[in-house]
Amino acid sequence: MPDDIERARELIARAQRITVLTGAGVSTDSGIPDFRGPEGVWTKNPKAELIWNIDNYRDDPEVRREAWRERLDHPMFAAVPGRAHEALVELERSGRLLALLTQNIDELHQKAGSSPGLVAELHGSNHGTVCLGCGAVAPMAEARDRVRAGEDDPRCVDCGGILKATTIMFGEMLDVDVLTRARDATLACDLFLAIGTSLGVHPAAGLVDVACAVGAEVIIVNAEPTPYDPVASVVLRGGISEVLPAIVG
Ligand code: NAD
Repeated sequence: MPDDIERARELIARAQRITVLTGAGVSTDSGIPDFRGPEGVWTKNPKAELIWNIDNYRDDPEVRREAWRERLDHPMFAAVPGRAHEALVELERSGRLLALLTQNIDELHQKAGSSPGLVAELHGSNHGTVCLGCGAVAPMAEARDRVRAGEDDPRCVDCGGILKATTIMFGEMLDVDVLTRARDATLACDLFLAIGTSLGVHPAAGLVDVACAVGAEVIIVNAEPTPYDPVASVVLRGGISEVLPAIVG
């Protein structure tokens, strides 16, 4: 492991154009559980995945009620950034960060101080709502206040349509512009850093293939094995809050 840390430090020091992909693992130390890790929401309760499917959500009022109940108490809304988020702000200060691509929906990178212009939220944000009827968007805080006040399935105040979070659910397409930005930043990088992601969700995980295709070095920081470990230049298995400051600082 110390040799791997040293090798990763060298690769980061040498790189000129760095693209980072983060997943739920960068936020677990901020108190937000991931989905597929040992303490993950889906590991503990595989049925929880159902409420993240757009068809189930649109068609079944009970799924929506469960989703709103979960949003009410979710630790995401009170979480603060941790050492991993801060280390990525430091990396940006070196002037070599092309983009911070994140699958996270918690906005903790922006809260930590990462430039919003560099952050690409591949799966959207949980801090807004959008109406499935008229497309109106509003802060998530407003809908959560209404649920707290007793509405179990709050509807759009304009048209009465179904409200959902401004996240990409299973069964929905990723935003084409965001995906294009992510691909362009990956095509242009000479170092691709994948942190805290099981690399099991496409198309985000496929960005590693893109990085390899252009000959970029790949560093993976994740507690558990990923399908892309064999193509990485370095794989670091330790805790992200320790490993990331050690290789970026
Ligand atoms: P995932 O749950 O599939 O994988 C997370 C990985 O991080 C796991 O392999 C786990 O072992 C590792 N990990 C967790 N904590 C770690 C730590 N402290 N140190 C080292 N490794 C650690 O997450 P994913 O790949 O991001 O995909 C899941 C989807 O879930 C994404 O689409 C994302 O939008 C969503 N999600 C987001 C959040 C968030 O915004 N914080 C939380 C849960 C899920």
